[in-house]
Amino acid sequence: MADRLIAEHMPTYPSESVALESACGTILREQVFAERDQPPFDRVTMDGIAIRSSALAAGRRSFHVIGIQGAGVAALPLGDDTNCVEIMTGALLPDDADTVVPVERIERNGDDVTLETGYEPNPGQFVHRRGTDLKAGQPLLEPGKLIGAPEIAALTIAGSATVTVARWPKIAAVSTGDELIDVGGPIELFQIRSSNDRAIVAAFEKRGCTTATRARLPDDPDALRSAISDMHDRDDILVLSGGVSMGKYDYVPQIMDELGMRVIFHKILQQPGLPMWFGVSAQGKPVFALPGNPVSSLVCLIRFVLPAIRTALGATLPEQQTVRLAETVHYEPNLTCFMPVQLGVNADGDLRATPKPTNTSGDFVSLARTDGFVELSRGRDDFDAGEPVSFYQW
Ligand code: AMP
Ligand code: MG
Repeated sequence: MADRLIAEHMPTYPSESVALESACGTILREQVFAERDQPPFDRVTMDGIAIRSSALAAGRRSFHVIGIQGAGVAALPLGDDTNCVEIMTGALLPDDADTVVPVERIERNGDDVTLETGYEPNPGQFVHRRGTDLKAGQPLLEPGKLIGAPEIAALTIAGSATVTVARWPKIAAVSTGDELIDVGGPIELFQIRSSNDRAIVAAFEKRGCTTATRARLPDDPDALRSAISDMHDRDDILVLSGGVSMGKYDYVPQIMDELGMRVIFHKILQQPGLPMWFGVSAQGKPVFALPGNPVSSLVCLIRFVLPAIRTALGATLPEQQTVRLAETVHYEPNLTCFMPVQLGVNADGDLRATPKPTNTSGDFVSLARTDGFVELSRGRDDFDAGEPVSFYQW
């Protein structure tokens, strides 16, 4: 429900052309075609000698080495059936050869080689034939792919020095609260290090986004109003934390209203993160206001904000994966439960998620020992060991 409401209000973000060096972690926005056949030539896959199989068929077992040929050079012609070329993995197979005999299967005497006694090569062996993986012009990658190592390799093969990808929107990660102090300076007993803005930016950076910036604001209506208004003008998405609950100083929903932001929802039946607020500005920019508790703010970011942006960027694969619970979980409140988990391998070698309940939504310390969280749907109290559940990585 919340996912759908957010998705309905997410804008589409433009594409940009980036150098291949900067493409990792972005979402591909073009179809990519093979520049050449793959492999581009008949490629030798073993170090050995290249021969003609018709010579084998005629009973020949000894050959004269007419030269040596490595990868990256034009082919040496064999010429005669009695000849062979000493050849290396990755080399272009000579036109008039069709079979490779590995170096382990020959005996060499000067420029003459003899096949190992009893060894019968299969005609055509150890040659990766041109175009057998893909033909030039065939599609290699589809739009929507998250670009990682194999995609970078595929783009390189395609000859794409520049790539059309989704441009990350500019994101403001804003912590609100009079108690918040940045890392580094002195701190009073009643103050708190502001970890949310840093954690939020880190979650974006981990996903390849370099356009998230941090800010800290006090619980002061005038300061909030003017700073949020400025950031809204400058950035594409606002992600606030703190000030959305029912406290006297929780001004965020009211300020949003004053700034003409339309509330789409306020509160979700979930634990942690119940007070989450989502709205859109008159210009259609999404605004997420997450509860200030560090566990709540990070869970809400990863469960709702990141998947929504990912989909808006055109990604075809979702943010979450499926894992199986290592233990039974009993959870009574009629709320969706986001349970931090540690991933590990059980005695059978299977990946399992062990629940690591936090002390409170403020218990950020225990999160550092977990890998992410699982979603346990509302309306049930018991979840079985081995049951598959949605998993979100921090
Ligand atoms: P709030 O949602 O503003 O009521 O904040 C709830 C709790 O989260 C309070 O204990 C805050 O001190 C704490 N908190 C809020 N923002 C941050 C932040 N940026 N970093 C660490 N803790 C925070
Ligand atoms: Mg607060």
